[in-house]
Amino acid sequence: MAHETTARWYELVPRVLEVRRVARVTPRTARITLGGSDLAGFQQAAPGDHVKVCLPVPGGDGEPVLPVFGDDGMEPTPPDRPQPIMRDYTVRAHRPEAGELDLDFVLHVGGAAAQWAAAAAPGDRIGIVGPRGSLIVPFDYDWYLLGADETGLPALARWLESLPAGVPVTAFVEVADAEDEQKIDSVADVSLTWLHRAGVAPGRSDVLERAVRAFVPPAGDGFVWFAGEAGTLRPIRRHVRNELGIHPDHTDIDGYWKAGTVNLDHHEADPDVADGGAGA
Ligand SMILES: Cc1cc2nc3c(=O)[nH]c(=O)nc-3n(C[C@H](O)[C@H](O)[C@H](O)COP(=O)(O)OP(=O)(O)OC[C@H]3O[C@@H](n4cnc5c(N)ncnc54)[C@H](O)[C@@H]3O)c2cc1C
Repeated sequence: MAHETTARWYELVPRVLEVRRVARVTPRTARITLGGSDLAGFQQAAPGDHVKVCLPVPGGDGEPVLPVFGDDGMEPTPPDRPQPIMRDYTVRAHRPEAGELDLDFVLHVGGAAAQWAAAAAPGDRIGIVGPRGSLIVPFDYDWYLLGADETGLPALARWLESLPAGVPVTAFVEVADAEDEQKIDSVADVSLTWLHRAGVAPGRSDVLERAVRAFVPPAGDGFVWFAGEAGTLRPIRRHVRNELGIHPDHTDIDGYWKAGTVNLDHHEADPDVADGGAGA
């Protein structure tokens, strides 16, 4: 089997959208449904597709501040202008017919985006840029191993919703406790285990690592996808490569945030692998 991952690229377009609805998927995750005429032409195609949200800045007029675009795309904002505050969020759902986009925000303490989402109400405006592209992993592997914390859960849910009927999938999701579990539909042959941090702070738990160490791969070729806190993924990346013997071309293990660091602006991926390349 070829197992060829392909990339699809899009023009980077800045958009200003309006909050249409806000819902709590769990007590600590807000689903923000965005819409507006700027969504016309929005494209996405893969579970990991994500946008940069551009927030209003403190002391501003409440309007989102978008990055500057020049002939070569996004450019540094001149120092005398308000600097955009941008964070990465997965496209949890896109409904072109309704002109709507869902983003799921983890409501953690002390983050600009999390704070914005916690207070968001219909009519509020936010900018988005991206996706820059889609990284399309083929569905021709014999099995899939997926893992995430709450920040990777929107993408993991999209994986489960996209994988075809009957494909064996093992999925591990780290959450604070049972209240953070979500119902996810899939036609694949899914074994999904919710792993509770049980009082351990986000980004400090080894529950994902322990689950992966106990995982016995089925026969055949597998693809491994993980997203979550960068430090917790490092031992997992090593285990997948060294103990499970999976070639980096057949993995995508991506740090989505880093404990103690504001806005991990690059995804921490396997240094030997072109980092998906399809970031917003
Ligand atoms: C490709 C990609 C897709 C992503 N998709 C999603 C998504 O769909 N939903 C989502 O919620 N996040 C997602 N993230 C992660 C999100 O971008 C980060 O968590 C981001 O730091 C949040 O911004 P903030 O302004 O709230 O916090 P920041 O201002 O960046 O950080 C402030 C402090 O909060 C800490 N922090 C950041 N995130 C968390 C967290 N989840 N829990 C506890 N502490 C945290 C930081 O370490 C820092 O100390 C994604 C990241 C990437 C790279």
